Amino acid sequence: MAAHQEKKLAEERKHQNMQNGTKASQGQWGRAWEVDWFSLASILFLLMFAPLIVYYFIMSCAQYQCSLTDPLLDLLTGNKHLSDIWNRTPMLTYRAAGIYFLWVTFQVFLYMSIPDFCHKFLPGYVGGVQEGAVTPAGVVNKYQINGLQAWIITHVLWFANASCFHFFSPTIIFDNWIPLLWCANILGYAVSTFAMIKGYFFPTNAKDCKFTGNFFYDYMMGIEFNPRIGKWFDFKLFFNGRPGIVAWTLINLSFAAKQQELYGEVTNSMILVNVLQGIYVLDFFWNEAWYLKTIDICHDHFGWYLGWGDCVWLPYLYTLQGLYLVYHPVQLCTAHALGVLLLGLLGYYIFRATNHQKDLFRRTNGNCRIWGKRPEHIECSYTSVDGTKYYSKLLTSGFWGWARHFNYTGDLMGSLAYCLACGFGHILPYFYIIYMAILLTHRCIRDEHRCSSKYGKDWERYAAAVPYRLLPGVF
Ligand code: NDP
Repeated sequence: MAAHQEKKLAEERKHQNMQNGTKASQGQWGRAWEVDWFSLASILFLLMFAPLIVYYFIMSCAQYQCSLTDPLLDLLTGNKHLSDIWNRTPMLTYRAAGIYFLWVTFQVFLYMSIPDFCHKFLPGYVGGVQEGAVTPAGVVNKYQINGLQAWIITHVLWFANASCFHFFSPTIIFDNWIPLLWCANILGYAVSTFAMIKGYFFPTNAKDCKFTGNFFYDYMMGIEFNPRIGKWFDFKLFFNGRPGIVAWTLINLSFAAKQQELYGEVTNSMILVNVLQGIYVLDFFWNEAWYLKTIDICHDHFGWYLGWGDCVWLPYLYTLQGLYLVYHPVQLCTAHALGVLLLGLLGYYIFRATNHQKDLFRRTNGNCRIWGKRPEHIECSYTSVDGTKYYSKLLTSGFWGWARHFNYTGDLMGSLAYCLACGFGHILPYFYIIYMAILLTHRCIRDEHRCSSKYGKDWERYAAAVPYRLLPGVF
């Protein structure tokens, strides 16, 4: 709805563009058009090594009890050869292929065939047909928001099976973890390659495509902005949310079931990881309409980064804590468990409240109260490809007065809590906080670069009013 209001407001003011003589040129905002050597090197590195990194983590757990150093030491000392490790790695099986095919097909079915009914009876939940933000070409896409219902249906079926029907064991995901990794990779590469071909030959909206001239950059960062099949199958919304994020909580449940099977109990650390990550996932689906205004949907093009990342990186690396706890069933003392719970909940509160403040502010065009006061803001403007001038506002009070990305700070606190739940025996479960710190710092810089080219001098005024990015007084 915010995009609708923003567009209406913009249309009313469109004539000012002509008066100001503003002429937009492509590349004024949106993803970069030129590829510098550092970006290219990073992209080549990721394309070559990201699948290996995922494999290395999962293999370390399966073969080395989650030690990240032992496989390397074995290889360096000649104790083992690569072929020894590879020969012990489970291959793709028909069973895993069947499970994965059914899983993705079921999620496509839920996404495409059941219009949202949750918004009809859940007060405060925004679902059904919603509008996204204005794209660089000035398009406003409509989305069918039904992720919460897909998550609920999937989990009800999961629990019904676990408690009544017993068609399959709840440990099914853990038991097929590596064969499923091959399936996820096949889908990740297939969808990214298809998106690239589609961008060249039959894009959904040609004006929102970007070609840098560099094959690898385009493959990784995507060409099309909002690739779709038909009216409703939106690649970004589908692959970002499902199958990866719906699977996240199921994967954790499967790991908990495996702990139960192996040790006859589920540890408090496993419960903490399930609960804290469950809140995060549920929050994602409860706020799926808000998610249309986040960077992934609003600004990123759809390429390997999102396609492969959503299919492989997210379900495999975001769930490392649960996997680790299957191999190391840590039972935390009460003080440690309470500390983790409090940190996780505080991080979640900051994450949600900060995001909510911006959403409320944008949705009401500043006609709201934040911490009991009228919000402070900076007026700003930007121009889309077709030359239309739009007006917007940047919030400078509430959490947005503390730092320019305090929502990331809350996210990082929550991420740290998941890791701390695993105790201090190994570095592997801490991968998540290290990765999130790099991801969100890089995202911060990337977003600011984009906002600075979008808003120009207005962004400089904003950065002067709110000088810190993540931690007031530090960074
Ligand atoms: P934000 O929600 O912070 O969105 C950034 C955009 O908001 C900017 O591009 C700008 O867009 C607008 N904006 C920036 N400053 C202001 C302001 N002061 N007032 C109003 N609007 C402003 O970033 P993300 O989309 O990256 O993140 C959303 C959430 O998702 C975060 O909490 C993040 O932690 C989480 N996240 C989690 C990830 C994970 O893997 N777990 C990955 C990525 C994000 P505009 O052009 O509209 O002005």
